[in-house]
Amino acid sequence: MQSRPRDLRVGLIGQGIQASRTPAMHRAEGAAQGLALRYDLIDVEGMTPAPAAADLIARAEAEGYAGLNVTYPFKRAVMDHLHEVSDAARRVGAVNTIVFRDGRRFGHNTDFWGFAESVRQGLPRVPMGTVLLLGAGGAGGAVAHALADLGAGRILIADRDAALAATLCAAVAGAQVAGDLADAAARADGIVNATPMGMARHPGTALPVDLLHRRHWVADIVYFPLETALLAAARDQGCATLSGAGMAVFQAVRAFRLFTGLDPSAARMRATFEAFDTAAPH
Ligand code: NAD
Repeated sequence: MQSRPRDLRVGLIGQGIQASRTPAMHRAEGAAQGLALRYDLIDVEGMTPAPAAADLIARAEAEGYAGLNVTYPFKRAVMDHLHEVSDAARRVGAVNTIVFRDGRRFGHNTDFWGFAESVRQGLPRVPMGTVLLLGAGGAGGAVAHALADLGAGRILIADRDAALAATLCAAVAGAQVAGDLADAAARADGIVNATPMGMARHPGTALPVDLLHRRHWVADIVYFPLETALLAAARDQGCATLSGAGMAVFQAVRAFRLFTGLDPSAARMRATFEAFDTAAPH
C-alpha cells in the first residue's frame, strides 16, 4: 500500500504566471488533506536568457519536487525530456503536468480531461453532432481531442492562422477546417471559444454574436473574466452556456491526484478558484 505523503513540493513553470489560481487550489486542497504541500511559481518572465525547459525540469527533479505543472511557453518543449508520456498528452502534443517518480519523469495532459469533465458536468446531454471550435492553439488542441472523445460527430475548426487549423484538423478524428463562419455556425449544435478573445487584453469575440442562435450551446475556456462577451451574448439569446472555470478547476483536480495519489475534492478546489472572484481586486 502506498504510504500517505506528508511533505510534498510541486510547482508551475511558465512565463507571466503570477495571477494563476492553480497554486491556491493545490495548497488549499493539500492543507485540507493533511499534507504539507508546497506549491512554487517558477516564473521565467523577465529572465534573460530564458531558461531552457530541460534545465527547469532537471533542477526541480534534483531539488526533490514530486511534480510540476507546465504552461506557456513550455508545454511542447518539455516533451523531449520525459521518459513516458500519457496517451492524452501524446494525442494533444502537449504536456501540462509532469510527475517525478523513482528517477523517472512522466508527462500528462490534464487540460484534455479538464475540459471534457467540465462539459460532462456543466452541459450534460447537449447535442454533439457538430461543434464549431474557435482557436487551434495550445488549449484548442486539448479541447478538440476532448470534443472527439465526448462524441462530437463533426468538429469545425476556425483559427485566424489557417495553417494551425489545418494541422489540428489532420490530427483529430472528425475534424475539418471551418470555412465561412456564418455557414459553420448555422451547421453547429455547439460552439467553443478557445481563442484569447474575451480576455481583458483581447476584448471582443472571435465569432460575430449575431451568428448565435438559441439552439446553440456555448462554452468559453477563457476565465479572466468568467463572463466573456461571447457568453453574455449567448445567455441573452437563451443558449446553454459553460464558463472556463470548470476546465481550470478540473485540470487541477487531475493534477492533484497525479502529484499526490490522493483523491481531491473537486467542490473544494472549485470553491478556492471561485474565492478569487469575490476577493478584493489586487
Ligand atoms: P494560443 O495563443 O496557443 O492559441 C490561441 C489561438 O487563437 C491562436 O492559434 C490564434 O491564432 C487564435 N486566435 C486568436 N484570435 C482569434 C480570432 N479572433 N479568430 C480566430 N482565431 C483566433 O493560446 P492558448 O494557450 O490556446 O489559450 C487560449 C485561451 O484559452 C487563453 O485565453 C487562455 O487563458 C485560455 N485557457 C484556459 C484554460 C482553462 O483551464 N480554462 C486552459 C488553457 C488556456
